[in-house]
Amino acid sequence: MSLIIGNWKMHGLKDALGEARAISGGAAMLPEDKHQLVICPPYTLLAMMAEALMETNVLIGGQDCHPSPSGAHTGRISAEMVADCGATYCIIGHSECRDELGDDDELLSRKVEGALRAGLVPIFCVGESLEIRETGHAETFVNGQLDVVAKIADRVIVAYEPIWAIGTGKVPTVEDIAAMHAMMRERLGGSTPLLYGGSVKPGNAAEILAVENVNGALVGGASLKAEDFLGIAQAAS
Ligand code: PEP
Repeated sequence: MSLIIGNWKMHGLKDALGEARAISGGAAMLPEDKHQLVICPPYTLLAMMAEALMETNVLIGGQDCHPSPSGAHTGRISAEMVADCGATYCIIGHSECRDELGDDDELLSRKVEGALRAGLVPIFCVGESLEIRETGHAETFVNGQLDVVAKIADRVIVAYEPIWAIGTGKVPTVEDIAAMHAMMRERLGGSTPLLYGGSVKPGNAAEILAVENVNGALVGGASLKAEDFLGIAQAAS
């Protein structure tokens, strides 16, 4: 079973629900036991999308959460609120949040706990910068990021997303993806679904999803169009 998760980031007004419906319509034609499709829309669409997709086999996720269940945190959203909208999953530690919100390991650990407390499955993102990749320390760096979830590895999904591959059209070699995923499998054990993310498209998905220890994909840009997102799901064997 491949997990194909779409991260819509800060894209989509109400009319984008039509695209979500097109995704769920296409997903109904795919063999049920081979894929689980998930869309993580902006918070503003979470409840509406969960309702629109209620009777379908596409699930919904948040893109981040505050560690506290409620409180004086203007502009923030708790994991309980994400779950209350009808979500099953929550992305935590995306490189854009690490960069823009300054999420560090301590805060990320509390966010993961918050997601679990609310009954959500955390999709914990890790990945190195180009500079770290070029100096040959990518695996050591990512291994360090895994400290946040290593003790609860059976309760999370981990997505390896090299920062330099996100939204750039650049993709690591299948050998590099295989080496990183082998390290993560060794560290986390057999029960953690491991996703690859970074410029996954219908044209490269089959090759990436065939790599050992790659159990699915976290997809940004190509998840916004039903045709592309479904094309990636179809490529999953
Ligand atoms: C992402 O941001 O999670 C991502 C993988 O983006 P893209 O597919 O656009 O590289």
